[in-house]
Amino acid sequence: MQVIKSVSKLQEIRKNIQGNIGFVPTMGNLHLGHVSLIKQSLQENEVTIISIFINQTQFDKKDDFINYPVTIKDDIALLENLGVNYLFMPEYQEIYPDDYQFQIANYSQYSHVMEGKFRKNHFVGMLTIVMKLLLLIKANRAYFGEKDFQQLQLIKEMVGAFFIDTQIIACETIKDKNGLALSSRNNRLTEMQLNQAAIFPNLLRSDKNNEEVMEELKKSGFMVDYVEIYDNRRFGAVKIGNVRLIDNVSYNK
Ligand code: AMP
Repeated sequence: MQVIKSVSKLQEIRKNIQGNIGFVPTMGNLHLGHVSLIKQSLQENEVTIISIFINQTQFDKKDDFINYPVTIKDDIALLENLGVNYLFMPEYQEIYPDDYQFQIANYSQYSHVMEGKFRKNHFVGMLTIVMKLLLLIKANRAYFGEKDFQQLQLIKEMVGAFFIDTQIIACETIKDKNGLALSSRNNRLTEMQLNQAAIFPNLLRSDKNNEEVMEELKKSGFMVDYVEIYDNRRFGAVKIGNVRLIDNVSYNK
């Protein structure tokens, strides 16, 4: 696997790649959720490119950014084992030569609800980095997890709006043995908190209405940001201590 750190090197390599390219953008600290996206890309494309970049512009809380887990050595070993071709790992100055003076404003139905409401400017930062990466990598397919369903919808809409020639592939959420969606932030939970966290997806899936689910979550010690239904899906965001978890389940009740 070739590790690429500069935009110019990536552009030079990109010019010479033959065959279909699959792309999986990540913020690193790779787990089995990421692995499922990467495996699908490896299966469906001749060349797979992964990016690892902790995108500070999408963090609404400085603490969350500073405490975001970094495990780059393990990540590289994992990607090598999987047979990934290229890892793009830019520094901030490299990918934001404009120092974030240009941004993707967005006003879709998903922009300012739920994550868009509770994490100020999160989606502007997220869409801006995804746009930069899609324009640089010019992949045939890019893979995103349904765990971040709102993010996935916005990326699909942006790709349509700007005629970007990359197919966006939605991948199902990978969960742990208790049904909790895998997330890099789960590493910050204690064993006890991890077990407690499993109540969250179970309640989202239950027959209880949103208010009842929120009540139950609060009783179980969670701080609740929201539980809401959009497009036959129930979405939720909670905090245990200072760790924030999101999930969504299909909901046809
Ligand atoms: P992140 O590194 O958290 O930015 O995630 C990179 C990609 O992996 C995003 O498209 C996420 O939606 C996806 N992802 C993260 N966790 C999971 C999971 N548990 N199952 C499936 N995809 C996931």
